[in-house]
Amino acid sequence: MTALEALEARELTTYQHRTPQSHALFARARQVMPGGDTRTGTFYLPYPLFVARGEGCHLWDADGHQYLDVLNNFTSLVHGHGHTAVVRAIADQAAKGTVHGTANALQVALAEVLCKRVPSVERVRFCNSGTEATMGALRAAKAFTGRPKILKMAGGYHGSHDQVAIAVSAPYDAVPPGVSPGAAAEVLVGRFNDLEYTAALIRAHASQLAAVIVEPMTGTGALPADRAFLDGLRQVTAECGVLLVFDEVITFRLAPGGLQEVHGICPDLTSFGKIIGGGMPAGAFGGRADVMATYDPSRPGAISHSGTYNGNATTMAAGLATLRLFDGAAIGRLNAAGDTVRARLQAAAVKHGLAVTVTGYGSIMQLHFGAGPITTPEQAAATDKRLTRLLHLLLLNRGVFTATRQTYVLSTVMHQAALDVFTDRVGDALGEIARAQKAAPVGVAS
Ligand code: PMP
Repeated sequence: MTALEALEARELTTYQHRTPQSHALFARARQVMPGGDTRTGTFYLPYPLFVARGEGCHLWDADGHQYLDVLNNFTSLVHGHGHTAVVRAIADQAAKGTVHGTANALQVALAEVLCKRVPSVERVRFCNSGTEATMGALRAAKAFTGRPKILKMAGGYHGSHDQVAIAVSAPYDAVPPGVSPGAAAEVLVGRFNDLEYTAALIRAHASQLAAVIVEPMTGTGALPADRAFLDGLRQVTAECGVLLVFDEVITFRLAPGGLQEVHGICPDLTSFGKIIGGGMPAGAFGGRADVMATYDPSRPGAISHSGTYNGNATTMAAGLATLRLFDGAAIGRLNAAGDTVRARLQAAAVKHGLAVTVTGYGSIMQLHFGAGPITTPEQAAATDKRLTRLLHLLLLNRGVFTATRQTYVLSTVMHQAALDVFTDRVGDALGEIARAQKAAPVGVAS
């Protein structure tokens, strides 16, 4: 057995010894949920960690072990767990009714915050997830332009509705199981950070194309879009009468006006989710008033867009409390902390002689096992997934909770001591991997 295999086996055994309650819960889960799971993106073998509670920047698993949370529910928890102001907002609102079945003032207030922070957003509608947000934005684009097709980037993730479920992972030309072939036929697949290829595709299909949807930084991979790529998309879409949709579900936490503010680019529509609900299920989409007017219910032929929990008072209250605390200064501090952490992680990899590339922007980053530069989803997909899984396990066993793919997300309640613990633990784990890679096989009789 190689030393790396021995390390993997040891860490797996440690995980299983540490987490018997998670194992038992997983066995129960398998009796009532397919494969014991209800969220593909958080699933891993042999079974995921079951968490009992969170507080501040920590989580506790079902066996009582404490973890530093460096995932923050895939970016949505900007102030960690159980922040007093957010808890108070939710509790106060719950006492007045969680949802009332009609309009409320909190919706107006949160819509005002979004419109104020993001100048391209003149009108906004609420929904309950990022999936619904991208679906709503793309439907507006199709209704407004009268064209049927959309273009998304290979490797881009915009949620789970049919059109955006195409080309999320390789092979990019396959229709995923259960996705309507009709929907797939109306999706063109561009290449992230490849303007020449993508612009040519847009021009070739312009008469059929309603919208181009793109993340200004990919959530999977934490790969920032080049400004020239986004600028080019803005120009070519404008020339072709195609609407440009920025999916800022993840990137809205990176600047008061999202990454579109950082790049100075004005998309036609924007989708939001994650932090705008302050830890409650949330989504929103908005943009040009003339495009969003396709949803104006007082106009004949408007798009019908209902949702039992759209704009519910509890989510709105949690979102408002969260964004109130997350102003430009708080965002700036968090991004600066992220820049430092990214540099430290990269330095740790260099110290241990590992081919590792840490990508990202501000408070969101990802560690890739591969030599850089890594700027496209295709390059990110070619990195070493075995080492990625091993690092995930090493960190779990050392009390650090991350995404299996090694995306790291900071929160405002992670102070310097927590950031130091995190970078030290990753450094130690990288050291173990490096030593195992260099070591002689173990357990082999000579
Ligand atoms: N767009 C992006 C960029 C995302 O990262 C995600 C989820 N991670 C979504 C849309 C979908 O959001 P949700 O999971 O709330 O449906």
